[in-house]
Amino acid sequence: MIDARPHVLHDRYDVVVAGGGPAGLGAALAAREAGAERVLVVDREPEAGGILLQCIHAGFGLHHFGEELTGPEYAHRVLHEALDHGVDVLCDAYLMDLADGRAKLLSGEHGVAFVETGATVLAMGARERTRSAIRIPGDRPAGVFTAGLAQRLVNLRGVLPGRRVAILGSGDIGLVMARRLALEGVEVVGVFELLAHANGLARNIVTCLHDFDIPLHLSTTVVGIHGRDRVDHVTVAPVDEHLQPVLERQWEVPCDTLLISVGLIPENEISRQLRLRLDPVTQGPVVTSAMETSRDGVFACGNVVHIHDLVDYVSAEATVAGTSAGGYAIGHRPAADNVCLQAATNVAYCVPQTVSTHREHTVYLRVRRPLEQSTLRLSTPDGRVVHERKLRYVVPAEMVRLKLRPALLADFHGDALQVEVVAR
Ligand SMILES: Cc1cc2nc3c(=O)[nH]c(=O)nc-3n(C[C@H](O)[C@H](O)[C@H](O)COP(=O)(O)OP(=O)(O)OC[C@H]3O[C@@H](n4cnc5c(N)ncnc54)[C@H](O)[C@@H]3O)c2cc1C
Repeated sequence: MIDARPHVLHDRYDVVVAGGGPAGLGAALAAREAGAERVLVVDREPEAGGILLQCIHAGFGLHHFGEELTGPEYAHRVLHEALDHGVDVLCDAYLMDLADGRAKLLSGEHGVAFVETGATVLAMGARERTRSAIRIPGDRPAGVFTAGLAQRLVNLRGVLPGRRVAILGSGDIGLVMARRLALEGVEVVGVFELLAHANGLARNIVTCLHDFDIPLHLSTTVVGIHGRDRVDHVTVAPVDEHLQPVLERQWEVPCDTLLISVGLIPENEISRQLRLRLDPVTQGPVVTSAMETSRDGVFACGNVVHIHDLVDYVSAEATVAGTSAGGYAIGHRPAADNVCLQAATNVAYCVPQTVSTHREHTVYLRVRRPLEQSTLRLSTPDGRVVHERKLRYVVPAEMVRLKLRPALLADFHGDALQVEVVAR
């Protein structure tokens, strides 16, 4: 990609951004545009761009750039934008700690380095859940990968993970990998999904599974991995309404590889070190409408806050975090939020968790179960409806976006709003 190495590492930056994915790069650009003079992005990988670099399929950027790009193209553009605006991007460098306005970095080039910072943006992305996170019993042979690792091997290293592959989980990464492997001539024996509904975007179910005749087994899970040196089969079983496997109806699926695609978890090491307040559902930091965490001057955006379905929304959120961090560094603070959003019926979470009635916000939420013809409703805790919007359909895999304008809350004077998505 681009040689983005800064020639000098300064002792002080207005804003330090941890993570050089689309969230970090977008936040850095916005911080510069908000008036921060020196902005540093650190990323632990040899190149900035984040996970997008291994996502070589198209489908990125329709909202943000108005055209369909591949992951690397999207990453290239956001990196270029940041560099063109004078952002320093230090790769092969790790944010280890943050205390009293000093960031401790471990850098291949600079060793252990301390830089002072006026504000910080956490944009470290997410990590994949593994076999041990969901405790699949059985042997421990070679051939068990997370879907993202397999994606990296195939797309960046040109190595196939196996020849006959079963996939556990129907999230977008698993679906994209089913298609990718089929295109490489690998036999994909099936995608097995615990829930009664698929967990990826509708467009991915069609273009990754239906178009390649790959079977999707809903309400089914892997209950055993078998093989001495290499996987030779997995056992799968249907699950009952409590998601418990019905072992009497289990069957064997011959395969040499199992890809596990069972969700992402925000990369939370730094958030925990900083003792940030975390949301038990998103597992990322609780944030205000300025994307500020529970610690003054520490902002966050992207998958480290909550898992996004589209990178375009990551960029939108990054702009808010970066603008706020840049403003903070030069002494500008917006008025504090005055309303707390409470996830109610069929809503798993809302981000940000608080808003202000004086500014416009985009609130992201996820539903717990699919519904057709539903209503998104904001109401007071005692049941007075403040705002309603009709939705054609909702599924847990697709984030719902709500533009919250001051006019919608003109007659609301409380400090908590319940958010629910119910059948019409
Ligand atoms: C395997 C995988 C496949 C995906 N496929 C798609 C897809 O096909 N389409 C889609 O729209 N979205 C996809 N996503 C989601 C999409 O990538 C995200 O929406 C987006 O990339 C998130 O951006 P981010 O900047 O928050 O995180 P990331 O892109 O993950 O970037 C985070 C960066 O932070 C760095 N980092 C972490 N900790 C530190 C630290 N302490 N110090 C320094 N650097 C650090 C990491 O190296 C990484 O470069 C995928 C995600 C994954 C994990």
